[in-house]
Amino acid sequence: MPPDRVRAALTGAVRPVCAYVYDREVLRSRAATLKAALPSSAEVLYAVKANGHPDVVATLAAATDGLEVASGGELALARAAGARRIAFGGPAKTDASLRAAVAAGALVHVESALELHRLSAAADVEVSVALRVNRRDGGLPGSHQMAGAPTPFGIDEAQLPGVVALARALPHIRLVGFHLHAVSNNLDGALHAAFVASSLRWSAATASALGIALEYVNVGGGFGVDYTGTATFDTAPLAGLVPPDGVRLVFEPGRWLAADAGWYAAEVLDLKHTHGRWFAVLRGGTHHFRLPAAWGYSHPFTVLPVPDWPHPYPRPCVQDAEVDAVGELCTPRDVLTRGQRVDRLRVGDILVFGRAGAYGWDISHHEFLRHPHPQILVV
Ligand SMILES: *Cc1c(COP(=O)(O)O)cnc(C)c1O
Repeated sequence: MPPDRVRAALTGAVRPVCAYVYDREVLRSRAATLKAALPSSAEVLYAVKANGHPDVVATLAAATDGLEVASGGELALARAAGARRIAFGGPAKTDASLRAAVAAGALVHVESALELHRLSAAADVEVSVALRVNRRDGGLPGSHQMAGAPTPFGIDEAQLPGVVALARALPHIRLVGFHLHAVSNNLDGALHAAFVASSLRWSAATASALGIALEYVNVGGGFGVDYTGTATFDTAPLAGLVPPDGVRLVFEPGRWLAADAGWYAAEVLDLKHTHGRWFAVLRGGTHHFRLPAAWGYSHPFTVLPVPDWPHPYPRPCVQDAEVDAVGELCTPRDVLTRGQRVDRLRVGDILVFGRAGAYGWDISHHEFLRHPHPQILVV
């Protein structure tokens, strides 16, 4: 069940209910838990793409060391949120966004030799740069692998000496270290710690081989969340990591900070039994919460019973049955959950999907079918 303050917010929501609820208290507590678990000198930047709602961004800007952004739009959000530090990444930066990053005093995670040229040309003052490297063996298991394999992200390790030489030759560029984000949704804390330790060793060895005064090692995000089970990412193994003197060790998680702070709630508009299966049709769906469809899993829900039924006609109800939670789109792929057992479910009850605070609304195709957007309630 969602916490009382989330249920209270839903009680006042517009009917039929279709809403996201974001809880700032949970955001603060996740950030504090992570800061306490990491080595004291380590820095945490929140990766804004997980949830760019201005209140979420402002809350995490205050509760962490700063923000990681991946577009000009996110950069503007980060500035508005008063972020103490901003790191600007992403594989396809425009000249306008590079200029904005320089103006904001952001550290730029540069992903190619051409981008380095463009950044140098866009800069009128010195800009700190970390090179994003796709290492030969820097991979990690998880839902999305981004390094140690062919991907569009970063600079292939074999090309690094040439890019470092270029960084040295170009005006306004101050090379401070490396960015090694490698994975999303890794659930194994021990493996993650081994990855970070190896990233620190590799960075020190590479900096020394290429004559870089190493100041910055960003190991990215990727701490996982188990949407369908009870596994948790164990942060304890990360506590023992010690960066070399004078080196900032930076993490930039998104999902782990924001997922638990969001709930997606949708009212049951219809209940039907066809070809032996129960369907709960919702005021909502994958155009608001795309993650389960994108990843191909069933997202669990809880039923929030709504007692009142102010209509003269009978209220459809199903008891002790398996139900598919489907959305309001005209496609059989608009499915949030398949075959979840319910004790009782009625039209007018509300399904609440927890762990919807990261990569929920932000990654969804909001305009498909032009249904009204959900309310966004921040508590
Ligand atoms: C998406 C992303 C993150 C955050 O990843 P999570 O899996 O949400 O922790 C961090 N850094 C970069 C470069 C990213 O692309």
